[in-house]
Amino acid sequence: GRRIPRQPEVNIGTAGHVDHGKTTLVEALTGKWTSAHSEELRRGITIKVGYADAAIYRCTGCDPPAAYNTDGDCTGCGGEPELRRVVSFVDCPGHESLMANMLSGASAMDGAVLVVAANEPIPQPQTREHLQALRIVGVERLVVALNKIDLVSWNDALSSYERLREFLEEHGYGDDVPVIPTSAQRRLNIDALVQAIEEHIPTPPRDRSKPPMMQVLRSFDVNKPGTELSELKGGILGGTLMQGVLRVGDEVELRPGIFDPDRQKYFPVTTKVVSLGTSAGLVDSVEPGGLIAVGTELDPFFTKGDQVVGDVMGPPGELPDVVDHLVMDVELLPSVVGATVPTKVEPLRKGEPLRLNVGTMVTLGIVSEVKGSRVSLSLRRPVCPPPNARVAISRRIEDRWRLVGSGRIIG
Ligand code: GDP
Ligand code: MG
Repeated sequence: GRRIPRQPEVNIGTAGHVDHGKTTLVEALTGKWTSAHSEELRRGITIKVGYADAAIYRCTGCDPPAAYNTDGDCTGCGGEPELRRVVSFVDCPGHESLMANMLSGASAMDGAVLVVAANEPIPQPQTREHLQALRIVGVERLVVALNKIDLVSWNDALSSYERLREFLEEHGYGDDVPVIPTSAQRRLNIDALVQAIEEHIPTPPRDRSKPPMMQVLRSFDVNKPGTELSELKGGILGGTLMQGVLRVGDEVELRPGIFDPDRQKYFPVTTKVVSLGTSAGLVDSVEPGGLIAVGTELDPFFTKGDQVVGDVMGPPGELPDVVDHLVMDVELLPSVVGATVPTKVEPLRKGEPLRLNVGTMVTLGIVSEVKGSRVSLSLRRPVCPPPNARVAISRRIEDRWRLVGSGRIIG
């Protein structure tokens, strides 16, 4: 693969309907195929969200967009490729049943590339769903790839573009959102896409002085069955750092922590960071951006099979309080996301169960009070809400959890 000169500093998600070319586009950008059998998959990191990193270069000898590339090669112009930054692509699956993954993955995204095939009517169901989901979890920085442009005529491409603009407009995205025609498969216009990413998905300000904090996106046991006790490796936590710097040797706490079945309660646990894995290998410290694997001293029994997904990790005593009820300022969508027939969102009702995504945590909440947009809920499973978390709210409709709105935590 291509050499990645340093840790990524920004996470960019892919979104869009299945088969529109998300994974192919990430491959065109990174040289890497993020689905099955990648190295990360064997290490257990990418089953539900894949990722691949790319170093973005701008050649000093060429004009944009041709100056932008992700392989550091520029031949014949006499210029030098200058490293701009390293970005990490989080490739979420586009299948409808994986909407919940999309919502948890999205909380790790600083921006997104929405991939829309030019050879199908716009929008396809998951194109709309993902765009609404991105908005709900607060991913505001968007670049759109009008992909598979090689399959349509010039006139059809133009009308797809017009329709796509209308669709974006309907969802509150104006002309400042770039739409780049691409062919991921034939590597056409990838330079213009890279330029759009550089210009429209800036690295958010990172505060190194804040305590390190990570939302757990995956958790696993990497030991083979029958491993000697003395050889056992501690539990591994996957995620992305939201703030601060995390170092090998740091003491960390997990909240809400681990479930004790005897007492039917969650308990915070503290442990130590014994290793830090990144796409560039093992490192001594990490900063926000890119997915990381944190090796701990936790008993892998507790971390196997994603058991601590949704926990927040940070220095002992510095994490937000764990709560089992929430008061939110709720904004409902006009219509239910992903319903088979257009369905108006009815107001929330006292006593009804809702599924809440709070960061990477999924929990059931029972509505205890509704006063206008101010809604109180009691939670089936406690949460440690990360600072400024936007809560995605789903309601059971047609036997599925469907996204109906979002909430801002106010108490
Ligand atoms: P995903 O489900 O959105 O990740 O889509 P994939 O990247 O797996 O692509 C689905 C199919 O579309 C594959 O067979 C790709 O080779 C093909 N494909 C992707 N991008 C293009 C493109 O720009 N042009 C054409 N003709 N085919 C494409
Ligand atoms: Mg894919």
